[in-house]
Amino acid sequence: MSEIITVMGPVGTGSLKAVQCHEHLAISKGKSYEINPALCIDDAEKSAEEAARFREAGGQTLIDAQPVGCNRVVSILQSASEKAGINIICSTGFHKMAFYPEKHWIHSVTENEFYGILRTELLQGTYSDEMADSLCSAEDLTAAGPDDRNGLQTKAGIIKIAYDREELSPRYRTLFEATARCAAETDCCVMIHVEGGTDPRRLQKFFTERGINPQRLMFCHMDRACADLEKHFGIAEEGSYLEYDTIGRFKYHSDEEEIGIFREMIRRGYLNKLLYSLDTTRERLKSYNPDGIGLDYILKIFNRKMMDSGISAEELNAISVLNPATYLSRI
Ligand SMILES: [Zn+2]
Repeated sequence: MSEIITVMGPVGTGSLKAVQCHEHLAISKGKSYEINPALCIDDAEKSAEEAARFREAGGQTLIDAQPVGCNRVVSILQSASEKAGINIICSTGFHKMAFYPEKHWIHSVTENEFYGILRTELLQGTYSDEMADSLCSAEDLTAAGPDDRNGLQTKAGIIKIAYDREELSPRYRTLFEATARCAAETDCCVMIHVEGGTDPRRLQKFFTERGINPQRLMFCHMDRACADLEKHFGIAEEGSYLEYDTIGRFKYHSDEEEIGIFREMIRRGYLNKLLYSLDTTRERLKSYNPDGIGLDYILKIFNRKMMDSGISAEELNAISVLNPATYLSRI
């Protein structure tokens, strides 16, 4: 049976159960916090409490989408996983350049260096988050090697990347090339932050041309980033996954509109390419903000709304349990 790498070590696909594929349970204060104060989730107790809320509602696995060097906090993920008894998969990779300070190594790292960083985090262990966030050079980071953290060495289980409005500009292209090389070699899953106004099919083509199995690609936020469902059909037709997470985010659209997208995708025959999540921020986590929807919103409320709309229990099980297990399993 194929193994999935979590912050507590490898687990079998059978133990993933209900999965939310793009969450944030830990973000330290950095550039993203300066842009949006809701992008700070830095209290280990509260994150563990939120993870326990998810577990109590029947949840078992989260993918945390904060990559290395971008205010990731592996130690919080690890304690939340341990205390709540859930699986958490942590990310290596990169976010939008806007989320890094001006002199951060991400702006100057070479393709080879970045490939090495990804590979090390996936196969050997994650670097120190404090060091990766600091203004050290990529050379200093790689020279320091993975962070032992007193024997609590953790590997990343997925590569998270961002497809920004610049699309395949030289800086992003360097990072995408490194990602492609590493993913093709390791058969690792890649989750893609899709920014509105981009053409995600272009990036899908970029990766498949470089030997990446399209089934290893998950295009995130498509429900709010791309109104043209024809593009969703195209991505799914090629074999990649679509992760919808504009759930309980009423400033974008209602849950009824969200469910309309799921229903249309199912009607067109793409049930087995759908994944979901909440893409939480501090504001929406109940343990940080009592008025927030909470990490259990899908399991407690949204799933019921899906079923009330006519989506069957089997279809819901595919989105929540079977599809994530297939996506995360290495062939
Ligand atoms: Zn996110």
